[in-house]
Amino acid sequence: MKRNPYQELVPILDRMQAAGELEYIQNAPLAPYSSFRIGGPADFAVWPHTRSALLDVLSALRELEIRRDLFGNGSNVLFADEGYRGVVIFTTKMNRILYRDGILWADAGVSFTGLAVRALQEGLTGLEFAYGIPGSVGGAIYMNAGAYDGEISQVCVETTVYDPNHALLGGIGEVTGAAQGFGYRTSVFQSAPEAVILGGKFRLKSGNPAEIKAKMDDLMARRREKQPLEYPSAGSTFKRAPGYFTAKLIHEAGLKGAMVGGAQVSEKHAGFVINKDGATARDVLTLIEQIKEQVVRQFGVEIECEVRIIPAE
Ligand SMILES: Cc1cc2nc3c(=O)[nH]c(=O)nc-3n(C[C@H](O)[C@H](O)[C@H](O)COP(=O)(O)OP(=O)(O)OC[C@H]3O[C@@H](n4cnc5c(N)ncnc54)[C@H](O)[C@@H]3O)c2cc1C
Repeated sequence: MKRNPYQELVPILDRMQAAGELEYIQNAPLAPYSSFRIGGPADFAVWPHTRSALLDVLSALRELEIRRDLFGNGSNVLFADEGYRGVVIFTTKMNRILYRDGILWADAGVSFTGLAVRALQEGLTGLEFAYGIPGSVGGAIYMNAGAYDGEISQVCVETTVYDPNHALLGGIGEVTGAAQGFGYRTSVFQSAPEAVILGGKFRLKSGNPAEIKAKMDDLMARRREKQPLEYPSAGSTFKRAPGYFTAKLIHEAGLKGAMVGGAQVSEKHAGFVINKDGATARDVLTLIEQIKEQVVRQFGVEIECEVRIIPAE
């Protein structure tokens, strides 16, 4: 008879949960853990509390040959209506920050906005742009998150990675400087699917706390004014096409307010597909395809999704 690897996984998770090393849910609906508020049940969702607990879970899953994916705050993903066959691991309970001499070290699960606040508390400038980006440090490094002329590539000097397939390095180690392969909304970690970001090292400059705070407040006010923050979404749905503002193309294609089921092109900001009213992943994907088609047809420009689409299997 074919073995069921979940029968071996459950006692491991139970033991680790009892020891306070993680939390887990079997048959976990993913919608509450995605900023789109969309997604059916994952077989398991796990929240390790520490790096060592995360590494223990990863090694058990590897041994049992169970599919897994890592997420932070779920603010740049679209989970499938059918959920996820395997184990989704969320890093958000791994949130240690260390500070010394202008350098912040943050676990992958640290809130990116929280890291900007910590930088302000230490009188450090360089992370103001992160204030208001609703992701984790791991997700921000993976995506090379950025806003208003700031980008993670400008401040993240080193990423600690677990890389079981040795695509980037052997086992656990540091990927530094240019080797992090940062480009527009991309990093080398996107080409190493098994690699797991454990944390980042941020080199910042001393600044004037009042000026740092004023800049953060200004950027947050601009977000509130321009973005449909009152609806669930995953932020900008598409990447910028070289030489174009994608939101402008979508607006000029006459798509503002266009709807498929409960998904809508935001009337406030055409670059955002929002979950207006109980949207499914299928609604969002169909709308995305319609937008791409119209933009190619009307302007001859191919646009690429920034949101990561996570298949059920
Ligand atoms: C309202 C709103 C505004 C936004 N504004 C911006 C903005 O101004 N600029 C911007 O760049 N983005 C923005 N975003 C998008 C999003 O917040 C960023 O991309 C963020 O960096 C994603 O972080 P996350 O922790 O939520 O990642 P998730 O959505 O959890 O994951 C994103 C990708 O990263 C991978 N990943 C996450 N953590 C790890 C890890 N530890 N190891 C390996 N892979 C990992 C996941 O597998 C997935 O492929 C916005 C989103 C929303 C909803």
